[in-house]
Amino acid sequence: MVLKQMASVIRKKLTVKGTVQGVGFRPFIYRVATECNLAGFIANTTNGVIIEAEGAEANVNSLIRRIVSDGPPNAQILSLDQQNLSTTGENGFSIIPSRGNGEISLMVAPDTAVCLDCLREINDPSDRRFRYPFNSCVNCGPRYTIVEDVPFDRETTSMRVFPMCKACLREYRDPDSRRFHSQTNSCRECGPRLWLADKHGNEIPCVDAALATANLLKKGKIVAIRGLGGFHLAVNAEDDDAVKLLRSRKKRPTKPFAIMSARLDNVKSYAHVTAQEEAMLESRLAPIVLLQKRKGNSIAESVAPNNSTLGVMLAYTPLHSLLLSGGFRALVMTSGNLSEEPIKCSVEDAIGNLAHIADYFLLHNREIVRRCDDSIVKFYGGNHTIMRRARGYVPRPIVLERPLKPICAYGSHLKNTICVAKGGHAYVSRYVGDLDNLETVEYLEETVAEMERLLSVRPEIIACDMHPDYASTKLASERTGLRLCKVQHHHAHIVSCAAENGVYDRIIGVAFDGAGLGDDGAVWGSEFMIADAAGYDRVAHLKYFPMPGGDAVVREPYRMAISYLFGMMGDSARALPLDVIRETDDGRLAVLLNMMRRNDNSPPTSGMGRLFDAVAAILGLCYNATFEGEGPVYLESLIERGVEDSYHFAFDNSSKCAVIDPSPVLMSILEDVRKGSEPPAISARFHNAVVRMVADICAMSREKTGLETVAVSGGVFQNTYLLERLTKSLSEHGFTVLTHKSLSPNDECISFGQAVIANER
Ligand code: ZN
Ligand code: ZN
Ligand code: FE
Repeated sequence: MVLKQMASVIRKKLTVKGTVQGVGFRPFIYRVATECNLAGFIANTTNGVIIEAEGAEANVNSLIRRIVSDGPPNAQILSLDQQNLSTTGENGFSIIPSRGNGEISLMVAPDTAVCLDCLREINDPSDRRFRYPFNSCVNCGPRYTIVEDVPFDRETTSMRVFPMCKACLREYRDPDSRRFHSQTNSCRECGPRLWLADKHGNEIPCVDAALATANLLKKGKIVAIRGLGGFHLAVNAEDDDAVKLLRSRKKRPTKPFAIMSARLDNVKSYAHVTAQEEAMLESRLAPIVLLQKRKGNSIAESVAPNNSTLGVMLAYTPLHSLLLSGGFRALVMTSGNLSEEPIKCSVEDAIGNLAHIADYFLLHNREIVRRCDDSIVKFYGGNHTIMRRARGYVPRPIVLERPLKPICAYGSHLKNTICVAKGGHAYVSRYVGDLDNLETVEYLEETVAEMERLLSVRPEIIACDMHPDYASTKLASERTGLRLCKVQHHHAHIVSCAAENGVYDRIIGVAFDGAGLGDDGAVWGSEFMIADAAGYDRVAHLKYFPMPGGDAVVREPYRMAISYLFGMMGDSARALPLDVIRETDDGRLAVLLNMMRRNDNSPPTSGMGRLFDAVAAILGLCYNATFEGEGPVYLESLIERGVEDSYHFAFDNSSKCAVIDPSPVLMSILEDVRKGSEPPAISARFHNAVVRMVADICAMSREKTGLETVAVSGGVFQNTYLLERLTKSLSEHGFTVLTHKSLSPNDECISFGQAVIANER
């Protein structure tokens, strides 16, 4: 009986959707099917992967099991459909050419860090790929940044112009090779070329461009390096003069630079690395991980001044690995974008834009079809938060518990991303950036067009922010004939966090950030809401204080200190023994006070980020910010560990929406300053006060509503001291705490929240 069952031959058609192209899926299926004695074929289509398998029933089932259980490491299977066919008596299993017809419903794989096998080869003098900078295989290498269209094949990538040599083709056709059907397969004979150029773009002849570049870096030179998703500017991270030179040429006085090392033991010499951080650094994602600096480390102080952390990544391409093996503990690898413009990726653009910064260029001729920044993550108390979601993460979708209508959401103004949703998947785009210049706005348009095309989504609904002046809102409003849905910024934050966690019920939402337009026209930014995707009740917020000069306070946070101090104390604030008062000359002070008194360009704000700005300025840490959030980052960085006491906010519960008054907190800070307390202890008490205040408001909300789940979002929660303490405190009080898992809590998450809300309306 058993024998008879095993002998019964069946044929099934399997349709596998998800990230199944460019990840070694076809070779994997080929191997398993051959092992299982199955006949049939596999093909990439624009709709995923189609397999037809014929053989003993048990063997066909074992193929299906193994697809689910031991697929290639980079594959992400979102669905597997089965269909019975009649048998054909076919012999043998084959990989057949891609089929390009039909509806498109898949995204390409993310770029993946170089694998250990490929690294071993480039370091092996006897290997034919010794020191080959573009080594890759089916398990690693560029995908998202080189793909022009789907399905993923050499012909649809920028590798198209490099036909394989005989040796490469042999590997490509060999089922036992790691390069079997590897679309990026190449070698020095047939693949992309690396060369060194002077600052004008003229090639400098040399035998080994990576080695020559390493020698220039050792001499303190600045080199612009064309990498995977754009250009980096590199200098030796242990050379303080070189780092300072880069800072002055890039006009970036203090914002931390990311650094890159070849190996973990290098990293451990200058930073503390936990087991989790280690695993993340060495993962295929290979993001920048923010690590605690070791005392007395050899990395130049100018790499990350006033900061207790270093942003570190491991070499994620063979090229990076070759450069670093030139004898560096670490190289500064900061993205080659000027101010906040999108990263440059064509050779001509880069030479035009970076010649006044870089002394040399290290270039290659594999076109970057799609730019992509490095991702950034930070660990806290066993979890991690994504500070920037880009390389390695995009374009993986968020799998939704509730399917969405076809939607395109245009995101926020700062830290823009867009979100294209379709069915059970929401695709949040790469990081687009701050929409303050035309170039980034064009980049946003490009991103919208490309995502809609690659996913073949024709949106029925367009979502955007309520703010009429955001470039994203303007672009969204230009889409005629579609339903437009405008979404409040903090509502989007909260729903983004909840939906990412699969929660659609009403919850208590906490959104702390810099700014978002509120229903009452004020600049909101510390919002407690009882919310679901359908709507929200604002239940508490920080008391409004004016922002003299509007958005100017972001660059000149001392203005907020003036606003809070004079708002609380009136003219007697003039006598405060604080540098922020002394250093603001009388004329300037009069202008600011007049603006606020006349209500001239001084919108009221409840932004938590603004309160952090004010505290940083009062403590003399940051009057003018050279990058967004400089004061708050400094404030977090110097917190004295072990200080458990806290200041106290006051609450006014007289109306339906509670108002949180920071005055007692600020008065206590002034008192502590007067008594000679140091900023590290004051900062700890201030952070502890915020944690306590949130826990108190959540407890009050629970009393009124019975709700016990809290979703936490907003840029302020990139502060991991705050996030760690808050999740701990809320959990201890019996709350279920939801935090962002695969998105950043900052405005990168807004587009996803907008999509979920627009779907509900
Ligand atoms: Zn590899
Ligand atoms: Zn070759
Ligand atoms: Fe925000």
